[in-house]
Amino acid sequence: MIQLFLPLNFLGFVYREIRRALTDLENMLGLLTRKPAISDAPDAKPLQLKGGEVKFEQVSFGYQSERLILNNLSFQVAAGTKVAIVGASGAGKSTIARLLYRFYQTQQGQISIDGQDISRVTLESLRQAIAIVPQDTVLFNSSIRENIAYAKPDASAAEIEQAINMAHLRQFINSLPQGDATLVGERGLKVSGGEKQRIAIARAILKGSAILIFDEATSALDSMAEQAIVAAMRSVAHHHTSLVIAHRLSTITDADTILVLKNGSLIEQGDHQQLLRLQGEYARMWQQQAQKPTVP
Ligand code: ADP
Ligand code: MG
Repeated sequence: MIQLFLPLNFLGFVYREIRRALTDLENMLGLLTRKPAISDAPDAKPLQLKGGEVKFEQVSFGYQSERLILNNLSFQVAAGTKVAIVGASGAGKSTIARLLYRFYQTQQGQISIDGQDISRVTLESLRQAIAIVPQDTVLFNSSIRENIAYAKPDASAAEIEQAINMAHLRQFINSLPQGDATLVGERGLKVSGGEKQRIAIARAILKGSAILIFDEATSALDSMAEQAIVAAMRSVAHHHTSLVIAHRLSTITDADTILVLKNGSLIEQGDHQQLLRLQGEYARMWQQQAQKPTVP
């Protein structure tokens, strides 16, 4: 009897271990394949882009319903202009970008692009209209050219060339042994944080979206690398509506409008000079950063 019991007990152990591993795997896959809460409205139509005007009207939002992250937020980004969003970490800046890209649905208020409620247009057309340059960019193990063209695999050589130039990548690429065919990523050439971010900008340009979002695209960089990105961002800004979420105020002094966000509310709004004259939160942040210009 005991001879039979031992192997059965062992089999039971193996069975439980396998069940547990499968459950873990299911949980993991569940996260990846979970049906998104956000989907097209039944009567969704493709977004009709004009100039890429963005409007938030009395938007309130919380990831959990009991805790509001954005509180009755209203602002407008006129087509072709550059608006910066500043504020302490946790103020809700990235949440604004996520709502515009419709990763989440607002609880109250309306977000529109060129006068069309974004929850009534197809997700595909909405997300084609917006390109995001994140804080930290992931490169694939392939050539620089493929890394840039990833958002538009059928891009022509001339289009890629233009994106490279606008992102201020030409000099860097020319210095590489195989130019834009050079392999990058974990198994290829190690590129610096600044070069990586310029590749992300080239990607965004090539996507051809009317609206560009830079979410702290320079905050992981030293000031030399930052200057190169800021130059690239400026040359791109002429052709797009841009929303720049910034940690260092020195990178956004040229914005048409600066929104100062605090605990999910808009507390000040104006251009750099106007906000300095106001002597409020922005002026205080500016003073504070001026005292330690090289701290990221
Ligand atoms: P910022 O970009 O200004 O630093 P975020 O918009 O990322 O701030 O976050 C604003 C607040 O929302 C923070 O308190 C953060 O902890 C919270 N938050 C962000 N993402 C989530 C999430 N997925 N679930 C719950 N809370 C979140
Ligand atoms: Mg953020």
